[in-house]
Amino acid sequence: MIRLDHLTKRYGATVAVDDVSLDIPAGAICALVGPSGAGKSTLLRLINRLIEPDGGCVQIGGAEAGTLPVVALRRRIGYVIQSVGLFPHWSVARNIATVPRLLGWETARIERRIDQLLDLVGLPPSLATRYPHELSGGQQQRVGVARALAAEPELLLMDEPFGAVDPVTRRTLQDALLEIQARTGTTIILVTHDVDEAVRLGTVIAFLSHGRLVQAASPAEMLRAP
Ligand code: ADP
Ligand code: ADP
Repeated sequence: MIRLDHLTKRYGATVAVDDVSLDIPAGAICALVGPSGAGKSTLLRLINRLIEPDGGCVQIGGAEAGTLPVVALRRRIGYVIQSVGLFPHWSVARNIATVPRLLGWETARIERRIDQLLDLVGLPPSLATRYPHELSGGQQQRVGVARALAAEPELLLMDEPFGAVDPVTRRTLQDALLEIQARTGTTIILVTHDVDEAVRLGTVIAFLSHGRLVQAASPAEMLRAP
């Protein structure tokens, strides 16, 4: 579904992502692990085309991402980051509607979609009119996930999405993500520092170090390795 083909990104003398090739099948959850500075965030930003590679390419569903218009890419790829990044002066509903509005959906369709998404991420419909500061951290993160899923992307990129919440909330959000994945079949690439989280969520674990892909294997294979 998504293919990274000899992907390389340099910052001056630093090779942030070094010749990474990886195939991620549709419906997989790829947990991207590795020490700080390994290139995990850079890899997500390359896939999302927030930055351009110095070498190699990204293919999404057979199409080269570099040739797709950015609006098409924003529809096909959802993006969630640790700090959530909800727009503070917009209600929950307006935040969730960001991409559908960009795509010019009709109001009635957007409203139906907001109801579906709140249900999908486990939030009551009454939260739609609240503002981000009126929500708990866990609720904000759920809204971030709902916003990322609004236009039914094939691929969801998550950069330490649960890094800023307490362990109990994290566990709840992990369960919610597994349920969402089961219901939607969305392919997910998830950056995490937390090895337990990688094993719990990942169908594939990809280990990065100094920009290089050191290993990519299922959790069972990973645990069997010497
Ligand atoms: P990780 O997400 O695994 O912590 P990053 O992808 O953030 O790693 O960073 C990988 C390497 O690239 C690091 O050495 C980092 O300092 C460098 N880097 C990342 N972004 C930039 C940037 N915008 N300018 C210069 N160097 C950068
Ligand atoms: P979560 O498990 O999602 O992190 P919490 O246990 O932190 O949720 O919050 C429980 C309840 O408290 C929620 O219904 C939420 O709406 C409410 N709440 C939390 N923080 C705030 C806030 N800053 N303003 C208003 N309500 C809040």
